[in-house]
Amino acid sequence: MRPDDCFSPDYGSARRRFLDASAAAGATTEAIAHPGRGPGGEALAMDVAWFGPADAERVLLTCSATHGIEGFCGSAGQIAWLAGGRLRELPPGIACMAVHAVNPYGFAWQRRVNEDNVDLNRNFIDHAAGYPENAGYDELAETLCPRSLDEETLAATQRALEAFEAERGPTAWLNAVVKGQYRHADGLFYGGRAAAWSNRTLRALLGRRLGAARQVAYIDFHSGLGPSGYGEPMSSHPYGSAAFRRLRDWYGDEVTSTGDGSMNFVENDGDSINAVVESLPQAEVTGICLEFGTLPEWDVLNAMRRENWLQFHGDRESRQGRDIVAGLRAAFYGETPAWKRSIVERSLEMQAKAVAALAAS
Ligand SMILES: [Zn+2]
Repeated sequence: MRPDDCFSPDYGSARRRFLDASAAAGATTEAIAHPGRGPGGEALAMDVAWFGPADAERVLLTCSATHGIEGFCGSAGQIAWLAGGRLRELPPGIACMAVHAVNPYGFAWQRRVNEDNVDLNRNFIDHAAGYPENAGYDELAETLCPRSLDEETLAATQRALEAFEAERGPTAWLNAVVKGQYRHADGLFYGGRAAAWSNRTLRALLGRRLGAARQVAYIDFHSGLGPSGYGEPMSSHPYGSAAFRRLRDWYGDEVTSTGDGSMNFVENDGDSINAVVESLPQAEVTGICLEFGTLPEWDVLNAMRRENWLQFHGDRESRQGRDIVAGLRAAFYGETPAWKRSIVERSLEMQAKAVAALAAS
């Protein structure tokens, strides 16, 4: 399959391509229906492809579209693997489980968040334990998400945000803006006030299908952070932990964590790696977010700010609305031949490394 053929123009096409590739590879599939509908009235689902023994103790688990619109990238990474013929060469005793569109609503509607404006990677926390405060976000809430999108407001808020970053420093900036917040339901990086459908569904799925697993290599595909086309393996496994040491053994020194001084990643207990670890207490989980770069950070953030305004104050069907959605798409999906090729090559490389590590474990 050519790299270009792994990518899809919309959620419905990606879903069909994933199911076709799964069937061709001899995988069994399961569709878990989402209660919502896509913009064309299409059904939405979290689709699961399984290849290998049902009671495998060593499993490669991949997820796409945890951040809806990032599914353009992640879906292709999964399809490339399914279509690449490598499943038939899996070492004995190893299974692969690919979960397509963890957040199908966001993928279909081309939003990064879910049906409740929730950022799922801030939602996998313990909701009974209360919510972390984020005073920095409280302070910036109206500046990040102004009620008007006119040029004057955009320029003034941009100055205010850059001033906050310059005065408080990069760590305070990242903690305020991207760490996550649980107070502003119409804001950015909102973690929600209850476990979302995707959160509950994923946890139940993992418990049901991976009960026999002892070693789980987990890859959650993301896009929109870092150098264009580069796939950075990031993990919330603490620096120095046994899981982090395994990551370095398996994937090399490129793996970054919350504790290694990298400014690209802010500590956050609510990501999907946390959900996999908690759902599989019997297993040793070794998880990464494979994060593919697209545009410069400010371009990505501003695309998110505009799209958030559109959701709460604009009209998605207007010309302005379509432009804003196209801007968000460009912030998370490279769409050039070179970008697509690098996503496919890196995705294949990382999944092959995961399988090799499982085989050696
Ligand atoms: Zn993401």
